[in-house]
Amino acid sequence: MNSAQNAVTVIGLGPMGRAMAEVLLDRGYAVTVWNRTASRADGLVARGATLAQSPADAVAASEVVVISLTDYAAVDAVLEPATQALDGRVLLNLTSATPEEARAGARWAADHGAVQLTGGVNASPAGIGQSDSYTFYSGPREAFDRHRPVLEALTGRVGHQGEDPGLAALHYQIGMVMFWTSMLSFWQAIALARANGLTAADILPSAAETASSLAETFAFYAERIDAGAHVGDVDRLAMGLASAEHVLGTNAEAGVDTALPAAVVALFRRGVDAGHGADSFSALVELMAKPGK
Ligand code: NDP
Repeated sequence: MNSAQNAVTVIGLGPMGRAMAEVLLDRGYAVTVWNRTASRADGLVARGATLAQSPADAVAASEVVVISLTDYAAVDAVLEPATQALDGRVLLNLTSATPEEARAGARWAADHGAVQLTGGVNASPAGIGQSDSYTFYSGPREAFDRHRPVLEALTGRVGHQGEDPGLAALHYQIGMVMFWTSMLSFWQAIALARANGLTAADILPSAAETASSLAETFAFYAERIDAGAHVGDVDRLAMGLASAEHVLGTNAEAGVDTALPAAVVALFRRGVDAGHGADSFSALVELMAKPGK
């Protein structure tokens, strides 16, 4: 093992792992890397990183091992042949996963003498190393505190969500459910704009205004939802259904894909059919929380 306190291994050199290895090199860490496609390490090796010949060698090289792979199936594929090197290691597993997958991964690591800190990175590769980017962590607090300098090198802000290794994954996926659907809504808007001769740049100002108004709207509804109040005083679900149908109709008229607006209409219609037409459209939260009811 690299005896230096500042040794870090990075396993997985997709855009994220590469950005992390770059930042760690910038900060003076002794970086060992491994990737299935070895050529992705070329630029890092040119900058002084050490390319391990196997996952076991990579794990053996540093106490702290950053894992940045596509999913936990990839983590299993990479680490299964490296189990003999895991004892005493701290695995910063920044691979996206469900909470249960993260918990199972942490148990598996513990069975081999390693500690897993689960991480959910709220940044693009360009945000790695930036002071305002943020990562959720969960798992042993002691490991989080001891390795905080490495964590803060990766993203300037870090949070410990609790000892349960699933919690960081949960908080990350709560963010991602919003991120993916928000971005898809933007793609839908661009498709609709294009079908009408407009470009993404043409609609960007109003799209950005809509996005920035959402924080205030979230705050308004969050308070009411936590109080169990779905009063239809400022909006009614029946109005929402009519509006969602206009959105669907506009997309259909333009000849663009309607899967996303049709899914929105289906949800609104379920709410109205369940008797919530005169309530706020926030009543949909109750349907989404208990889909069988
Ligand atoms: P990628 O999926 O592009 O690449 C990750 C790495 O996984 C690659 O090095 C790839 O190796 C490796 N890999 C995939 N399958 C296997 C396998 N079966 N065996 C061995 N290695 C495998 O991911 P990113 O780098 O973009 O992201 C890494 C993680 O970070 C993901 O979990 C992602 O959800 C998360 N994340 C990504 C963000 C982003 O903007 N990119 C933002 C926030 C989180 P190879 O090079 O050989 O293909």
